[in-house]
Amino acid sequence: MKVLLIEDEQKIADFVCEGLNDRGFVVSHCADGDRGFEIASQDQHDIIILDIMLPGRDGLDILQSLRNDGIETPIILLTARNELGDRIKGLYMGADDYLAKPFYVEELIARIHAQLRRKEGALQHIVQLGSLQLDCLSRQISCHGQYVELTTREFSLLEYLMRSPNLVFTRGQILEHVWGYDFDPCTNVVDVCIKRIRRKINSLDKVGKMAGAIESVRGTGYRLNPR
Ligand code: CA
Repeated sequence: MKVLLIEDEQKIADFVCEGLNDRGFVVSHCADGDRGFEIASQDQHDIIILDIMLPGRDGLDILQSLRNDGIETPIILLTARNELGDRIKGLYMGADDYLAKPFYVEELIARIHAQLRRKEGALQHIVQLGSLQLDCLSRQISCHGQYVELTTREFSLLEYLMRSPNLVFTRGQILEHVWGYDFDPCTNVVDVCIKRIRRKINSLDKVGKMAGAIESVRGTGYRLNPR
């Protein structure tokens, strides 16, 4: 588990690094806001512990830039007792938690574990294929940071295909799974729904790499080809 600690007070940095190392975390420490932001931007850590008052860029500035750049690494802010306003601002800006100084390292470790559990839970709701991401909670599909909503049927159909890439599904199987009852096999609801999903994928994917992700298999049905 890789932790990035951005904190300029040497005493705090020392006890946090020591405490986390003892528990098997791999900690990188940085005492300066500008350098801290650079390292955090590389998005190679599982969690970031971020002090607010720092030389160079301050913690809130770093937080905002990371979130603007689409970096979703969980962030725990370290705040001084009197920084209530900053704490609230930080949570609104996308910090996941905060800890007021002084604190026990055990408490920080408990907060880190809570964040990592949350992150794992959230990941199970995401089905990823190539640059396509399906969020099963919000029922949105995203690609290159752009989102579009899906209807209930579009969502179920796409999820069905995405969870078993490369498998061919017949129209009958899709009808049964997505619509849930016996339809006239001559109905074209599946084809109409596929057409709408393709249009939505194409509207998201300006690069065109995912165009044709849903392949028609002649005389049979459809499959998702992740390439
Ligand atoms: Ca500080």
